[in-house]
Amino acid sequence: MLPPLDLATIFATNSAIAAVTALVLSVLRRNQPAINGIGSWATGQAAYAVGFLLLYLSMADAFQRSALLGFFFSFAGALFTSLGFHRFLGLAPWATRVAASVFLAVLVLLPLLSLTERTGLIIATTIAILGSTAAMNAWLLFRNGRGALRPAAMTLAALHGLWALFALGRLIFIAAHGFERPAAIATLPPAMLMATVMLTCHALGLIWLVVGRLQEDLVIQAATDPLTGALNRRALLARLDQERARAARDGIGFALATFDLDHFKQLNDTHGHVVGDATLVGVVETVRRLLRPNDAVARLGGEEFCVLLPGVVGDDALALAERLREQVSSLVINSAAGPVQVAASFGVAWYGTHGQDWSSLLKAADGALYCAKRLGRNQVVAAA
Ligand code: GH3
Ligand code: MG
Ligand code: MG
Repeated sequence: MLPPLDLATIFATNSAIAAVTALVLSVLRRNQPAINGIGSWATGQAAYAVGFLLLYLSMADAFQRSALLGFFFSFAGALFTSLGFHRFLGLAPWATRVAASVFLAVLVLLPLLSLTERTGLIIATTIAILGSTAAMNAWLLFRNGRGALRPAAMTLAALHGLWALFALGRLIFIAAHGFERPAAIATLPPAMLMATVMLTCHALGLIWLVVGRLQEDLVIQAATDPLTGALNRRALLARLDQERARAARDGIGFALATFDLDHFKQLNDTHGHVVGDATLVGVVETVRRLLRPNDAVARLGGEEFCVLLPGVVGDDALALAERLREQVSSLVINSAAGPVQVAASFGVAWYGTHGQDWSSLLKAADGALYCAKRLGRNQVVAAA
């Protein structure tokens, strides 16, 4: 016979772990205000801390109805944790609303159940709700944890999945005993000990998620221009290397279209830099709308850009550049002094005909761009 687990000590320990986690998350939230969801997690952990504390205190009155408030706080903890996942992963608000409604329903359900004096049923309901929330969280994390978030998201998904399975096991056990109080109480010590492990791993998992997001931001920052969100030169070169490898392997070429805004200095001088900046942003957005997912637009500097067009060469590339030119020239930017328009000159070169590496292709495209400027601007010229 194993010695019994001391439920009161476990409740107190869980409360302390949740409190420390809440504190760490609050500090993290202050330091990383741009990351959504950390505040909800901190609130959730604070609720768990209060919930476990109440459960600990309720031990003094032989686990009677005063524990109900402890259950409420556990629900709040689960609700806020789940909301945190929704916010962190940027999921649709309807999912958050559904989760919130379920919890509100529970807040009504539990006191009603308590009137029936069926402790076994109350505990079973609590387990069912916390278990299904865990299952939902596992699913959310499994479906949406991509990129740098993946390792942390999969670990947390596994944790929540495990907790959901454990809840199912407890429910089956309690149901087999007719939802009677002794059976329900008997499942508590191992479950709460498991909660200790879960809370600890979960705290690390949440922090790991935040690290993943920071890592993701760093990768984006290292590859993009902060004003327009276009790729920077380094990222474009990396994409170009991929395309060159593909061209050498599969014989599928690509084109480079460089473009430079026409009389942009004049636009800046007339309307100011703020309008100039808005124009640069608008131009990149316009170009992006026309591009396919595999295409890329990069800012080479100032008001000069480069579009990488995988799989198109020759007349196809020229036709695409022409469509880009048309769209840029019909773009209208609103300024205090009224609508502002801009145009761009394009030079197009492609793999094979005009070279195979970055420097020869860029040189060819730039030569054509210079030619387009000389010929009167707002036009597309193919490299010689
Ligand atoms: P062209 O038709 O020959 O290209 O004439 P241009 O006036 O566009 O060319 P120029 O190279 O003389 O001027 C480029 C201008 O782009 C000058 C600079 O102030 C502006 N510029 C470069 N980067 C930025 C930026 O980030 N924001 C704003 N608002 N303007 C920028
Ligand atoms: Mg210019
Ligand atoms: Mg320029």
